[in-house]
Amino acid sequence: MTSTDQERWARVRDRLRVEVGDDVYSSWFARMELEAIEEDTVKLSVPTRFLKSWVQSHYAEKVLACWQAEQPSILRIELTVRSAVIKTLPPKSKPAEAPAAPREVREHKGNGSELRSLSAPISAVHEALGGSPLDPRLTFEAFVVGRSNTLAHAAAKQVAQGRRGDAVMFNPLYIHAGVGLGKTHLLQSVAWAGNLSAERKVLYLTAEKFMYGFVAALRTQNAIAFKEALRTIDVLVIDDLQFLQGKSTQAEFCHTLNALIDAGRQVVIAADRPPGDLESLDERVRSRLAGGLVVEMGSLGEELRLEILKYRAAAARQHHPGFDVPPPVLVFIAKTVTHNGRDLEGALNRLLAHSKLTGQPITLEMAEREVRDLIRPQEPKRVKIEDIQRVVARQYNVSRADLLSSRRTANVVRPRQVAMYLAKTLTLRSLPEIGRRFGGRDHTTVLHAVRKIENLVSTDTALAEEIELLKRQLQD
Ligand code: ADP
Ligand code: MG
Repeated sequence: MTSTDQERWARVRDRLRVEVGDDVYSSWFARMELEAIEEDTVKLSVPTRFLKSWVQSHYAEKVLACWQAEQPSILRIELTVRSAVIKTLPPKSKPAEAPAAPREVREHKGNGSELRSLSAPISAVHEALGGSPLDPRLTFEAFVVGRSNTLAHAAAKQVAQGRRGDAVMFNPLYIHAGVGLGKTHLLQSVAWAGNLSAERKVLYLTAEKFMYGFVAALRTQNAIAFKEALRTIDVLVIDDLQFLQGKSTQAEFCHTLNALIDAGRQVVIAADRPPGDLESLDERVRSRLAGGLVVEMGSLGEELRLEILKYRAAAARQHHPGFDVPPPVLVFIAKTVTHNGRDLEGALNRLLAHSKLTGQPITLEMAEREVRDLIRPQEPKRVKIEDIQRVVARQYNVSRADLLSSRRTANVVRPRQVAMYLAKTLTLRSLPEIGRRFGGRDHTTVLHAVRKIENLVSTDTALAEEIELLKRQLQD
């Protein structure tokens, strides 16, 4: 494959992103990679079978069309599931080399015997109900707490420590954050901790599992036995809820959610966005989700990144005694690999692989070389509609509620139009979605506002400057 191919692929990705919008893009295409271009066929890969079947059934034509726009000679797109081992070695698929293999997590606490007793109740519950696999490394002990995740961690801990029959404090607990910021880690910690007490049964499911295992089981003849088993669950944990799709799945989800909450069972959910932004879910589910405790986890700060790296390096060392990462190297990685927790893990794995394969000590120079491609330029900040409303309201001295209200006095109409205009230009939200976020307005109202401000900006320099200023505030 040539670098032109990769550049072409980058342009196709840009096209796709524009076509489907940011959210859909990051849900389904972010992890798609170009494998090869052979004659009229483009070979792409994704990491899971689920992604493959989803993209194939929903977006095959779109992907092809985007390629053809760049390279008309392409006639076919071939999609495969890549085996993670051959590629860049994401650690979870490579347990033997992973820095913190199961035993080490326990040894880290100085209690090697815990692991066996801990897997037993998990597998029983999980097999019975088709739970998703749990990674033994993702425990509370291995979760580093910092400014960006204090609240989420505290809430998860609280949930994990609850006892059967306890009054449920916040239900559902809903945690949202971008990719690689620790959602899965925190949710699996809840599952491990809960099952460790043996008294409570925790079921951990990804939304894909929920769709393809759980809902399927509910529909078979075993449905009754299955529902019976479900009733014995004390805590239902669902990861990556943004992947939940389809009307009937939603209905089952909504039903399960209500039944469990009403029965005083705990529900814990993670997603990459707040409940209000789960556009494919219907309003009732969204509001039920928002009715518990909603916590956002922010990006990992440098200190937190350093702590995670220190923990990981120490854990890895237990398994690979020669693996000595000098502190400056850890600091270098923490400073430069800023993207998310996965890249941190990837960076350490590179160093580990290098030191194993070459037997050479780890130095700063070598680290710089090894992790170069993980150092990404900061992505432009994602602007949220909420932030736009807050900043605009402050600027014009009105309240956010005014912006969403139906009031039509001049002092709120203009700021509202400005806010809608900014929502359209700074985010990838559609007009109907923006309307919904502005007090349930029609998309034509939004369109009108956008056009209005566009026109004014070309003649009214004061307003144009004001808007530039607002943009800068939002984007810095
Ligand atoms: P998400 O589910 O939000 O995409 P993950 O939970 O899979 O992210 O986290 C990605 C990686 O970063 C995992 O290896 C995880 O253990 C690590 N990680 C993220 N946050 C923390 C943290 N606070 N402490 C320790 N490890 C973390
Ligand atoms: Mg996750």
